[in-house]
Amino acid sequence: MPSGHETVAAAVSMRELITQISYLVAAGLFVLSLKWLSSPTTARRGVIAGEVGMLLAIAGTLHLPEIHAFHWIIVTFLVGTAIGIPIAVLMPMTAVPQRTALSHCFGGLAVGLVGTAKYYLWVAEEPARLTHFVMGVLAFETILGYLTFTGSLMAFGKLQGLLPSRPITYRGQNYVNLGLLAIAIAIGIYLNIVPNQTALFPILILLALAFGTLLIIPIGGADMPTVISLLNSYAGLSASAMGFVLNNKLLIIAGALDGSSGFILSIIMCKAMNRSFANVLFGAFGAVTPKALEAAEERPIRSVQPEEAAEILTAAQSVVIVPGYGMAVAQAQHRVRELYDQLMKRGIDVKFGIHPVAGRMPGHMNVLLAEADIPYDSLFEMDDINSELPHTDVALVIGANDVTNPAARTDRSSPIYGMPIIDVDKAATVMVIKRSMSAGFAGIENELYYLDKTLMLFGDAKAYVGDMVKAMAAENR
Ligand code: NAP
Repeated sequence: MPSGHETVAAAVSMRELITQISYLVAAGLFVLSLKWLSSPTTARRGVIAGEVGMLLAIAGTLHLPEIHAFHWIIVTFLVGTAIGIPIAVLMPMTAVPQRTALSHCFGGLAVGLVGTAKYYLWVAEEPARLTHFVMGVLAFETILGYLTFTGSLMAFGKLQGLLPSRPITYRGQNYVNLGLLAIAIAIGIYLNIVPNQTALFPILILLALAFGTLLIIPIGGADMPTVISLLNSYAGLSASAMGFVLNNKLLIIAGALDGSSGFILSIIMCKAMNRSFANVLFGAFGAVTPKALEAAEERPIRSVQPEEAAEILTAAQSVVIVPGYGMAVAQAQHRVRELYDQLMKRGIDVKFGIHPVAGRMPGHMNVLLAEADIPYDSLFEMDDINSELPHTDVALVIGANDVTNPAARTDRSSPIYGMPIIDVDKAATVMVIKRSMSAGFAGIENELYYLDKTLMLFGDAKAYVGDMVKAMAAENR
């Protein structure tokens, strides 16, 4: 008969086995989730796979034998739920970038706090655990966690309009920032050699907090989505490092997936804007240049009312619709669907041209158009639609600005020079729905609006498209 001690040991190893199996399944689900999220047809499945994976990860962790008391876990669960549900429900789609920034902010803080707690606990009680490897990873995790915390908080403030979104710059800024980071890293290396110098740890934390803040303030609001996905990658990397400190394999895998996917997304965004990482991080993009201000003076433009715009559209044989951020803020996607139906009913060839950074996050337009049941096969990526535009009768731009600005192709002095754009100016006629002559996110003039072939359709996207649909429906009767 097994002794009491053996029975307990068997029960413990059985619990650990269950946890490891749940971790393995969760890791598989995370990988599948990322794969499925990359296409609109499978995206919902991807979200469910990610959610089930996370549930398994949490359940597996709570099942670990070293978890003895649940009261604090329940309290934090309730606090997290009380904060998370209102954020998820109340934040509109257009605010997803800042919502994401807030999530990274909490993630970074959690990693930083766990690193701090483990450091002080092990220095006091189990110094043997602070091997060179563990101390090195712990310092790395703590620096990355705290800088992600303040960096994401700054990004949230800029996007939410709580902080000025223009770049805040001063002479020698990059040297100051890199100097702070270098000192933090030097302290991390010193602690690696002499871990019990506990007085240095708060300095390391303060430097990381300051570096995160100062890294983001010189970056303009227009670059925030890219910065947020970069911070996502930092949060993932720090979580992965935390996995090494806590010896938790799932955390290592999930953090690595998070870190690499955030990094790949940043690269995609930089490519779509023809910018380098260094330019995004240190270029102070979005500052109002004297040239942009000077160009904003009065120049002749042509504008038409919805009825006339509807007539021009119905007389066309081919129409390319280019949606942008304005369509998202106006929530005009369902009206756009009605417009699509009206045009298709008349045998007009209608296609949508989707720029990779239209809106405020990659895939923003695809999600909105899918929500309005616009068929996926009508959606064309930038390169595909650009070859069609020279043979298109009407390009209808709905709330897009920067992603259609020909200055990106022609004006070497423009801050968006080199950014690939949708060549709407190559269509026979261009119609642009927006409320005013205001600039887009990059804060610059758009020459498109002054071309002879361009008609400005001034109004809120939802109301204007709705009026065009009404005019077409009335003509049907
Ligand atoms: P945009 O350049 O920001 O222009 C949006 C336009 O929509 C504005 O000019 C605005 O003009 C108009 N608008 C706002 N509310 C409207 C309403 N209710 N009805 C009608 N029009 C409305 O947008 P975009 O062309 O989609 O370009 C996206 C920008 O974000 C680019 O600069 C891109 O580099 C940047 N960005 C995006 C991502 C991403 O992942 N998507 C990442 C990084 C950066 P009015 O005020 O006159 O109406």
